Amino acid sequence: MNTAVQFAGILSFDDAYEVVREYCGRILKAEDRPSEEVLLLQSAGRILAEPIKADRDFPPFPRATRDGFAVRADDLARGLMLLRVVGQVRAGDSYDLPVASGEAVEIMTGAAIPAGADAVVMVEYSERKTVEINRKEREGTQRGQESEQANLDTGDVLGLRQEQQGAPEEAVKEDLVEIQRTVASGENIVPAGAEAQTGQELLPLGVRMGAAQIALAAAAGKARVMVYRQPRVAILSTGDELVEVAEKPGPSQIRNSNSYSLAALVAECGGEPVQLPIAPDEQGKLTELIQEGLKANMLLLSGGVSMGKFDLVEQALNTLRAKFFFTGALIQPGKPVVFGEARATPFFGLPGNPVSVMVTFELFARQVVEALSGAEPERLKSAKAKLKKEFKTKTGLTRFLPALLSGGLDDPEVELVPWQGSGDMLAAARANCYLVVPPDREKLAKGEMVTVVMR
Ligand code: AMP
Ligand code: MG
Repeated sequence: MNTAVQFAGILSFDDAYEVVREYCGRILKAEDRPSEEVLLLQSAGRILAEPIKADRDFPPFPRATRDGFAVRADDLARGLMLLRVVGQVRAGDSYDLPVASGEAVEIMTGAAIPAGADAVVMVEYSERKTVEINRKEREGTQRGQESEQANLDTGDVLGLRQEQQGAPEEAVKEDLVEIQRTVASGENIVPAGAEAQTGQELLPLGVRMGAAQIALAAAAGKARVMVYRQPRVAILSTGDELVEVAEKPGPSQIRNSNSYSLAALVAECGGEPVQLPIAPDEQGKLTELIQEGLKANMLLLSGGVSMGKFDLVEQALNTLRAKFFFTGALIQPGKPVVFGEARATPFFGLPGNPVSVMVTFELFARQVVEALSGAEPERLKSAKAKLKKEFKTKTGLTRFLPALLSGGLDDPEVELVPWQGSGDMLAAARANCYLVVPPDREKLAKGEMVTVVMR
């Protein structure tokens, strides 16, 4: 399918990375990727195959973002700071009368702003007051006329004369609130439709469903969503020294752990791992199993890509008329990594050392799994950290060395995990990142800010 990516021999890390990205771009352009419907929660980690649209405005009503009082900002601007509390509205409730001048509605965070009000004063800037007033005076006060008396005196503002007049039997209790600062119109309110309007796209197709995306789909009433089928990624470990995990290895044998690290990595980035039986270092059987693996959407091979007499993977792929996009990258670990395509299926030949296999998966293969899942592949996630201890190396290769990132948000520190080379699985298990050494550096100094790639 991807004939445009040409064979390029051994590449620098940057070039190899770009070759893979270009290939991924082509995968993403391919049409008719199969999809399936799943329950919303089952979409976690999967790639959305339909856009999700707003079935109503987000928020559906002007929403209070604070506890306090819904008011008319204009009242306060005109100095009318003592307002009559005419109701209360909690989240889920509504207050159905329009708020008139001189009135306030007590409101809770998340509740709908009643009509007429255009701002919320935080409860911190208010003081409730209950005042006894003369019924006759109260009735004589027309709603909306209070503003003519821009006077903070309680009685004047509301037309009350409870101290000077009014027999006790005529008095009623008035619920008031004194507002201590003005607010701008719109303050502490998210207008209806401010986040999205009915029919607007909330999530485009191709998005990976995480907690925030699932929440959005839930808010839009999507109990089920369409996601792309997960690509099947065949994993084929090669090597005469390998036995399956449940078997007892002979004195010079080792267990096939790479099939497991790779399967875990494939599952982590949204693929469905298919572990094939171990391939011996023998042309016929190896070719047969590679053919089997090429029936999947992608094939990951472990081992057999170095320069040794029994490194037969490239040969076997050649007999299947594979195209190679690169046959090595100037990196350590993982220099012999191979990337190509055979029978329209992308494959990687990953060097068999357990750390190499994981590093080369992270650097290159992960992106292809993501693209086959229907997602724009994520770039490597990097961060800067202060190197705890100096170390020396040789120039020529970009190195990705197992390292431990520690420290706080403001003072991240990193140190290499001691390791016995690219076969050291224990080092990989103790590490939480890879320290990146650029190819032109012989020495990294203590205290230097260095780049790490997160796993
Ligand atoms: P190779 O790339 O085939 O030369 O393998 C390099 C080394 O990696 C071998 O000598 C093994 O020690 C180790 N190795 C290869 N394949 C596996 C595997 N599937 N699981 C664990 N270790 C492996
Ligand atoms: Mg081998």
